[in-house]
Amino acid sequence: MTAVEQVDTLRAAVIALHQSGSATAILSAAARSAHWHPAVVERVRAQLPAFADQLGALGFDLTQLLGPTAQKAKPPPQHAPRHGFGAGPPRVPLDPALRAPQHAAPRRGFGAGPAAPATDPALHQGTPKPQHTTRNARPRHDVEIRTIPTLSAAAVLGQPSHKPPLEFEGTLDGLRGVPIDDLAGIRDDAGIGDKELERLTAAGIATVYDLMMRVPLRYIDRSEITPMSALRPGMKNVATVGKVLSTKADWGKKYARIEIGAGGYRVTSMQFQQPWLAQRFRRDDLVLMWGDVTEWEGFIQMGGALIAPMRDATAPFVPVYPQSDKHQVSTWTLHRAALDALRRLPALDDPLPEQIRTTRQLPGRLEALRAVHVPDNAADATSGRDRLAYDELLRMQLAMGVQRNAARQRPAVVHAPTGTLTRPWLDSLPWPLTGAQTRVLKEIAADLRAPSPMKRLLQGDVGSGKTATAIGAMLMAVEGGHQAALMAPIGVLVQQHYEEIAETCEQLGLRAVLVPGKNKPKARREALAGLASGEIHIAVGTTGLLSEDVQFKSLGLAVIDEQHRFGVNQRAALLAKGPGGAIADELGATATPIPRTAAMTQFGDVDISILDELPPGRTPIKTRWEPVVPLDDPAHEHWVFVRSQIAEGRQAFVVCPLVAEPETKAGQESEAQSAAAMETATALSDGALSGLRIAVVTGRQKPADRAEIMHAFSIGELDVLVATTVIEVGVSVPNATTITILDAGNFGLAQLHQLRGRVGRGKHPGFCVLTGEVSDIGQARMDAMCETTDGFKLANVDLELRGPGALAGTAQAGHRAGLLVADLLADAELMHAARADAQQMLAADPHLLRRPTLRAEVERALGEDAHYLRRS
Ligand code: ADP
Ligand code: MG
Repeated sequence: MTAVEQVDTLRAAVIALHQSGSATAILSAAARSAHWHPAVVERVRAQLPAFADQLGALGFDLTQLLGPTAQKAKPPPQHAPRHGFGAGPPRVPLDPALRAPQHAAPRRGFGAGPAAPATDPALHQGTPKPQHTTRNARPRHDVEIRTIPTLSAAAVLGQPSHKPPLEFEGTLDGLRGVPIDDLAGIRDDAGIGDKELERLTAAGIATVYDLMMRVPLRYIDRSEITPMSALRPGMKNVATVGKVLSTKADWGKKYARIEIGAGGYRVTSMQFQQPWLAQRFRRDDLVLMWGDVTEWEGFIQMGGALIAPMRDATAPFVPVYPQSDKHQVSTWTLHRAALDALRRLPALDDPLPEQIRTTRQLPGRLEALRAVHVPDNAADATSGRDRLAYDELLRMQLAMGVQRNAARQRPAVVHAPTGTLTRPWLDSLPWPLTGAQTRVLKEIAADLRAPSPMKRLLQGDVGSGKTATAIGAMLMAVEGGHQAALMAPIGVLVQQHYEEIAETCEQLGLRAVLVPGKNKPKARREALAGLASGEIHIAVGTTGLLSEDVQFKSLGLAVIDEQHRFGVNQRAALLAKGPGGAIADELGATATPIPRTAAMTQFGDVDISILDELPPGRTPIKTRWEPVVPLDDPAHEHWVFVRSQIAEGRQAFVVCPLVAEPETKAGQESEAQSAAAMETATALSDGALSGLRIAVVTGRQKPADRAEIMHAFSIGELDVLVATTVIEVGVSVPNATTITILDAGNFGLAQLHQLRGRVGRGKHPGFCVLTGEVSDIGQARMDAMCETTDGFKLANVDLELRGPGALAGTAQAGHRAGLLVADLLADAELMHAARADAQQMLAADPHLLRRPTLRAEVERALGEDAHYLRRS
């Protein structure tokens, strides 16, 4: 076995461990990474001995994985060759009868992959074990699948419950007051047991409301069930039905094995990390199994498939809910709980006016809940879901409308942009403003003059000149006799902005201050005194600006850079520092191309200005994708190029592979991530970039240390900056011309685009090289990156590739706004409808006095601002 094969086997083992769910963060990160430099291999090997047992169960030999020389590769376990990881073909002879016919794979609506590995003629060459040819074919069990009743949704829901109707106020919000425990006490088929209720609560479903809003991920169409005899390796997303033949739970190795059979055929499903599943089934239970089909030693397998009991008659569409392995909540527990709740929910208030329901073609509220959880067909499920989403959006739009009306009544700062500062500023600029900058400054000037508070979001691609525009706006505030503040999320950015602003101020005879932290009491006291007296015109800082003791004589404008990184309350706290109870005007800036609908949710009711023009004379960044760029090979073409750039006096960024757990909160870097950055830096300075001045920045360093390194890099004392994504935001070093993004396939497009924006900021052309093997989607992303440097185009590509929620932060923004069902991007049309309807309703009835149920919902959505509704 060559070294490459050894690493391949090691990767297969790590991927298997990761998929079995029992890997450490480091191993999981490695499993997701396509780029293993030797340090990773060592790190992985160091971790493996702790998993000796699991590895054995998965068919791997520990000594072989650890040893430098190995004997013979063991076959990978049945679940290893899954999509994306490109593990080799099954190495076991296969009964030709089990092979997939070439046409068997794709099924309606599901992108089934090719069944190629199983039909590889090379597979015929081994010595087939004769018993394999008969195992699957011996008739043993006869299950009459046709006897499982399929009822209409109405019939399923209409089955009498042995329990009384749920007790609640009759409104949807009333269901928030019905604990999930009220579904307890059942031994019959129609409910769930106490244990399961506890698990539901642990999984965050504490009330019937939570349960009702847990919308299924998809539905299995019972008319599309594949007979077991027709299952072929390579089929994806198929449903089959059979009787449980055997179950096995292994708590030590943490898996369940469930075997089902029908008509003489059988299928085995290994369920890693879910030994509990075995206890949920008895022999002869009728079950539905849904998933991808593989084979192992001649057996048909559906590893990790969804298994649901079929003892209940079901509607034609069986919902598949998001399961929780951690809390052992299965999709059918959710289904049965939802069914029980709906059977005991005879009526529900519907606050939506009949007329809107008709124009928007939405079902009633109870009808919608029933259609989501127990639909007859896909169309019903979709319109039911749309109704729930619309309700959330309407509630949000009403709340925003009420806030807007209230804000109109608050005193705002009225500015007088005279031009006394902006004109000399324009004259002093080394370049003319772009057309877009001029247009946007006019929009801002009009807002500043108006008596109502400005709420404007400045969107522009990286390098489009947002900061310059914001400086113009701040000068307008100052020339009218007020002050301005600029808040940015990270120290490095604040420092950069401050330098640019201080230079401008010096030329114009103004004073700006970078508000010092509490650790510099004297400087801070002086700065605060200057702001309070009005001697200092512009304040720059991070969230330190928000503290109580920062007071202005007359704060007229707050610029919030990278606005999406701040919370609503943080922004409000800064704006509230306006003079005499007035609210300061707000100018947000972001390079994230958020669609208007999403922006509205995130930032409230904003106007948007777009800088859609880059300053002239920029040579667009050239982008290339290069699958393999070894860190230890100085002779590799790519590193030769980077070195040549550095030899010409330029500088280089290297961005480390992303190993953070996806759950890691934004802005919080995992230890594994910064460890990987350190290792990459070491590997580079020992290898491809030896002899150069290299430093590392990570999110785990102390801010002061990081700032010091950034500073050294920005003044050219370093050649190469190896970094995690901490450099993503706004860092500007015009002399840096190359950025190498390792394992680029693990980053989202928005992030890649931001990272790429670190180069090509000066007069020298910029180069971006994306490295690492990628999946199909990854390939499409790499292609998009190479084709365009337009952030808005990339955002659209991202949407197409990844579906809703792809843009940075929109999913979280939705959750913060209380959206459990609606998606800010995918539901843009519904959002527009809800907005129009909300405006109409509020115009006729500003405090919603005529619609008490809706009013109560909006009051809840308003939270602290609920008093706006009570005021009459
Ligand atoms: P953004 O914040 O949108 O990423 P910046 O405001 O930092 O962009 O501008 C990027 C660079 O372009 C800065 O060096 C800035 O001085 C320069 N710049 C801004 N506006 C213009 C312009 N109209 N013409 C030429 N260069 C400009
Ligand atoms: Mg900027």
